[in-house]
Amino acid sequence: MSNSNPKPPLIGINVAIFAGLPLIALVLIPVWGIYRGFDAFQWLWALAFLYLNGMSITGGYHRLWSHKAYEASPVLKWLYAFWGAGALQNSILVWASDHRRHHRYVDDNELDPYSAGRGLWFSHMGWMLREYRSGEPDFSNAKDLERDPIVVWQHRNYVALTLVMNLGLPLLLGIWHGDIIGTLLLVGLLRLVVNHHVTFFINSLAHFWGSRPYTESNSARDNGFLAFLTYGEGYHNFHHIFQTDYRNGIRWWQWDPTKWMINACSRLGLAHNLNRVPDFRIQRALLDTEFERARTRLQTAHNSDSLRQLLEREYLEFTESINQWTALQGQRYERTKEQLGGVLEEKKLCLQQKWEKAALRTRLKELEYSLKMQRKRLGLLMEQLQLQAQAA
Ligand SMILES: [Zn+2]
Ligand SMILES: [Zn+2]
Repeated sequence: MSNSNPKPPLIGINVAIFAGLPLIALVLIPVWGIYRGFDAFQWLWALAFLYLNGMSITGGYHRLWSHKAYEASPVLKWLYAFWGAGALQNSILVWASDHRRHHRYVDDNELDPYSAGRGLWFSHMGWMLREYRSGEPDFSNAKDLERDPIVVWQHRNYVALTLVMNLGLPLLLGIWHGDIIGTLLLVGLLRLVVNHHVTFFINSLAHFWGSRPYTESNSARDNGFLAFLTYGEGYHNFHHIFQTDYRNGIRWWQWDPTKWMINACSRLGLAHNLNRVPDFRIQRALLDTEFERARTRLQTAHNSDSLRQLLEREYLEFTESINQWTALQGQRYERTKEQLGGVLEEKKLCLQQKWEKAALRTRLKELEYSLKMQRKRLGLLMEQLQLQAQAA
């Protein structure tokens, strides 16, 4: 930045937390480790705290409060509110309203509070260290949260809560264990610093490093390695296009402990109305991106008229599938509305209606499958293009 446009002033408390604490940790923890050592009790409790804090941010602050990807019982919400405060990343209200702005204005350097367009450092933690205009609190996008008594209570009592969770609890553990300083260093300090940075990776690295299978309209990326560090939030390209899905890693094998936790909670009756984006829409996004890529590649390729024709034919079929799917969804919606509106007075669905419902479902599944097959064909087309480029 030039001198005529000086950097905004530093925020003292944030500099102390985000720069001071890691420096203290870097010095004190190895020294204590060498001279006094840590034991399994302390390591295990640090790990437990790390996951309780981390998953309260991802499952609570993020997927529940910022995106309403599911509904949670009060017990679960209280747990999130306490352990989330322990993550020392501000209150639910501030966090979620910032995050909603991040989604709405992603990559906009003026309006996205942690825009990746301003660089890796800024999006990781630079944005919290100075009084940037893009970071000014504005709760106009969080009216629903201002009506949630748990959110309001946590916001009002945030400082006390975070002190209890970060100092009080590790102190009690230390007294119980007979090593106050060692426990404070590991369960209090190291756990806090590690959790800070792995969560920050979602705003920084997950916008720079990885693939973009669902959309190239923003910088968010899918990265399995980051998902492992971030409690499942590394499938960030998927998340930015389908933010109301309670999952980030949608395949069963994709590492997303937050999704598994929400699922387990729903089995225990602690969470309900888990929102899943229909598979068709996911396939559609994948195909859309692939068509876009194929078109760009074909534009510069020589002697590829036949491939171009093939691509356009596939694209027509794709549009047709989408139209059919939209029409079928419309029918489905009408049926549900009729049933809910009491137009169909019978309490039980008669055979005819059941049959229609099943037929509709089958047709939707068929369309989903047809998109999957199209992706395979598109893959072959791209391979052919690659071969031609190599031969040329
Ligand atoms: Zn993002
Ligand atoms: Zn999000």
